[in-house]
Amino acid sequence: MRKPIIVGNWKMNKTCAETVEFIKAVDEKLNDSCTYGVAAPFTALKDATANAHNLIIAAENCHFEDSGAYTGEVSIPMLKELGVTHCIVGHSERRQYFAETDETVNKKVKKLIEADITPIMCIGETEAQFDAKETETVIRTQLDNGLKDLCPKCVSRMVIAYEPIWAIGTGKSATKEIAEECCHIVRDEVRKLYGDEAAEAVRIQYGGSVKPENIKEYMAMEDIDGALIGGASLKVDSFLAIVEATK
Ligand code: 13P
Repeated sequence: MRKPIIVGNWKMNKTCAETVEFIKAVDEKLNDSCTYGVAAPFTALKDATANAHNLIIAAENCHFEDSGAYTGEVSIPMLKELGVTHCIVGHSERRQYFAETDETVNKKVKKLIEADITPIMCIGETEAQFDAKETETVIRTQLDNGLKDLCPKCVSRMVIAYEPIWAIGTGKSATKEIAEECCHIVRDEVRKLYGDEAAEAVRIQYGGSVKPENIKEYMAMEDIDGALIGGASLKVDSFLAIVEATK
């Protein structure tokens, strides 16, 4: 049985003080039906892990080298020291604005697994690719490249987030049928690459304009094991409404 995982991706939002305030308001109010977490900016991670007892804390990115001349980057040992347990990799905003590629995603995934930090690997097609009916090819290719040379057990422990780019921050969420169809393709590709056990264990999230009003319909779908949530994860009330809707 896969335990669903719901993670707020705060992106470039929240100071340390705002992070502490949010976590104190939310942490006590969680339930055991899902794993709940937030991905916070690097600067807020120390305060986040210090104050979270139930929420899992994720980073939003990492570098694949442990140290070196990479100005402005943050390494996995640095995240580990802060008690971070999960890390988003390959978010479409990083692919679009910061030259993230399937190859760098794969390097990061490997190093995170070595460090026992759970990667939340994001994939998803653009609106033009969706319109051209290329979604399946795009996501299968992103998976083949991003999950290259791992072991089946490693993949079992991962989280994969299917986030169609046209649904991110647009309010234009994918229908539950489209989201399910794509998450099913993700599981099918994991099965092809790493077998039944990995496919049945890996948790697959849908992301893209998820909010308290629509989370339930995604969670009811067979291959959707949670959500990666941007805008609706920033306010305590909205986050708690999502928690309430998923208990
Ligand atoms: P929104 O929920 O704001 O559409 O963002 C989704 C997202 O990018 C989560 O990683």
